[in-house]
Amino acid sequence: MAEHFAAEMVINGRRVTSDSTVGVLDPATEEVWAVVPECSDAQLDEAFAAAAEAQPAWGRDEEARRKGLRSAADALRRNEDELSELLTREQGKSRADSRMEIQLSAMWLEQFAEMPVPESSVPDDCAGFAVSAERRPLGVVAAITPWNFPVTLACWKLGPALRTGNTVVLKPSPYTPVSTLRFGALIADVLPPGVVNVVSGGDSLGARMTTHSIPAKVSFTGSVATGKAVARSAADDLKRITLELGGNDPAILLDDVDPEAIAEKLFTLSFANNGQLCGCIKRIYVPAAHFDRMAELLSGLARGVRVGPGMVEGTDLGPINNRPQYERVLELLDDAISHGAKAIAGGEPPAGPGYFLPPTVLVDVAPDSRIVQEEQFGPVLPLVRYTDLDAVIDDVNSSKFGLGASVWGRDVDRARAIGRRLESGTVFVNAHSIAAPNIPVGGAKWSGLGMENGLEGLHEYTQLKVTFESQDS
Ligand code: NAD
Repeated sequence: MAEHFAAEMVINGRRVTSDSTVGVLDPATEEVWAVVPECSDAQLDEAFAAAAEAQPAWGRDEEARRKGLRSAADALRRNEDELSELLTREQGKSRADSRMEIQLSAMWLEQFAEMPVPESSVPDDCAGFAVSAERRPLGVVAAITPWNFPVTLACWKLGPALRTGNTVVLKPSPYTPVSTLRFGALIADVLPPGVVNVVSGGDSLGARMTTHSIPAKVSFTGSVATGKAVARSAADDLKRITLELGGNDPAILLDDVDPEAIAEKLFTLSFANNGQLCGCIKRIYVPAAHFDRMAELLSGLARGVRVGPGMVEGTDLGPINNRPQYERVLELLDDAISHGAKAIAGGEPPAGPGYFLPPTVLVDVAPDSRIVQEEQFGPVLPLVRYTDLDAVIDDVNSSKFGLGASVWGRDVDRARAIGRRLESGTVFVNAHSIAAPNIPVGGAKWSGLGMENGLEGLHEYTQLKVTFESQDS
């Protein structure tokens, strides 16, 4: 039997295994290539206790926090080679995309290290009292991440949580635990014990974290259904929550677009990470006059993509990450085809192992079909032909999702005006899927609760504490 990579958890600064382990599949081969510990109840208690023990000193020492974040970023950069290989093996994305993910993660931590946390946001005088306000850390944060960008999304939580003086217990997805565990082991060497603990296990471990008595906050990225479960279980203890959930982002093309000029951008922004990106384009509304040309250009681009194992040099897109997700994407594709849609590129999974599906472009799609109304989170892009722009806006706004949306047109004022009518956390004009450490992002409606990144994202990890002072004693 081939030897498996064995990853360890990090609890209180020590690398630990567990009595029970679980295998991790390579989505390109469907074979187990790594094993990770299944965190026991006692180990989870130990991780939270270590985080609670480490928090007061960490919360007092701002310079140590900045330094710690810079050192963690350094550890990512120095180990990009190893981490990007682990990430490709477990997630499926190309090696180049994995390298990019590690670099982005380092950049995120560096920027949070430098970000100022403004002290006060209140008038300094009230009825003769001197008033001040400060942002205090919440304490211990339970951080739970999904499988599409495991390292980057962990850093979206670690950056602001650590910067503001909290300590963390982090749990990656059971589909992609290895790169996060390894990252945890590396940063354990540069952070005080207990500041970041990384535990691995299945969905039930996430549920145990949200009901644990120690964490003051749960920061969660994942699906809408799990987000609701997290909110329910956090309610008993009124734990603070940040939920970054699913999206079904529309791109609305206006009638003054130039298809040749935007096709490549639209393609990249729809199929980035194989469509497994919360904020990528998941449906494109195309005016009838441009429909055939747009469909031709996008399907041509789809046919030029090299699909294969992410570890093979030259691969553009790898497999879908896991079997349930693969089956869900195929189910939505079948449903669309059985209701009259046509795949003008892709559409057929290749024979052989691995969760592969070539980038698929669908036409003749009914606006109310499942592939348009639900989040596919995979490489299938429906193009919806329209003649009535107001009906498109009503349709988009009737969705429970509200993560991002884009409007494309040469008349930017008009595109911006359409964007103002859309109910979503972010609106892009002639762009999509942009994220940065200093720009807040969050979903409207079922796409989330609260914000990540930017000052608003930092504030989510703090309690605003107001002080009134009188000179009369
Ligand atoms: P998921 O909800 O199935 O799992 C996410 C994490 O939650 C995993 O670590 C999982 O083990 C854990 N978990 C499962 N059940 C739990 C429970 N009851 N309590 C606590 N934790 C639990 O999501 P996924 O399939 O890993 O990720 C895909 C989804 O994530 C998509 O819907 C995608 O849109 C969304 N996503 C959103 C963003 C964003 O920023 N808005 C970013 C990336 C992914």
